[in-house]
Amino acid sequence: MRIVLLGPPGAGKGTQAVGLARERRLPHISTGDAFRAAAATPMGLKAKEYMSAGKLVPDEIVIGVVEERLRQDDCRRGFVLDGFPRTVPQAEALDRMLAAQGTRLDAVVNVDTPDSVCQRRLSGRRLCPQCNAGYHVEWMPPTIEGTCDTCGAKLIQRADDQPESIRERLRVYHEQAAPLIRYYSGRGVLIDVPGDQEVTALAGCICDSLDKAAACPQQRTHAG
Ligand code: AMP
Repeated sequence: MRIVLLGPPGAGKGTQAVGLARERRLPHISTGDAFRAAAATPMGLKAKEYMSAGKLVPDEIVIGVVEERLRQDDCRRGFVLDGFPRTVPQAEALDRMLAAQGTRLDAVVNVDTPDSVCQRRLSGRRLCPQCNAGYHVEWMPPTIEGTCDTCGAKLIQRADDQPESIRERLRVYHEQAAPLIRYYSGRGVLIDVPGDQEVTALAGCICDSLDKAAACPQQRTHAG
């Protein structure tokens, strides 16, 4: 299956994309990860300029990266795209790439999550700068407040998880996502899944919706 995952920051989209790709034995393609991995190349350096300013990397750069990745053999059976497309021109380019290979997207899963839920998830996140362990002040607190259980380092909060940055990230997301959601809804491939549920329940809901969509491709479901 050729799947795109959409969702605001804090929707759990990244976690779901990794799990779904593993479950379906498909490559997980994250454009954010691809840029971070290519940080030492001329393309990666260019992308970093935009990423550190909190801006979108220009369409022609992102599209080039995805085009090259989708040509690789492991994508022949399908893929789970995470973080791409983010704009309508990127979505149009993806359609063209797939049409050139004689295929099309099977499903675009929109992990629909209220801003209040995203805010609560993101603002409670804490990270160990030393061993990368993740915590949440409400749901997965460390044994000793502010200290990593694994290595004892002092936990940090990412700069972009501060309340003001979260509000801005969500505002930018909605601005970009609305036209994309209309685009995919118009093409009959959109599946809305409620993101306000626990990780395993959400994974099950995504899988069920994809299976239903595969069984009757014309009828897209609104799960939940
Ligand atoms: P992510 O890890 O998906 O949050 O992406 C991190 C950063 O990479 C974003 O804030 C953008 O600067 C850049 N990026 C990732 N994917 C795209 C995309 N499809 N279009 C433009 N910029 C992107």
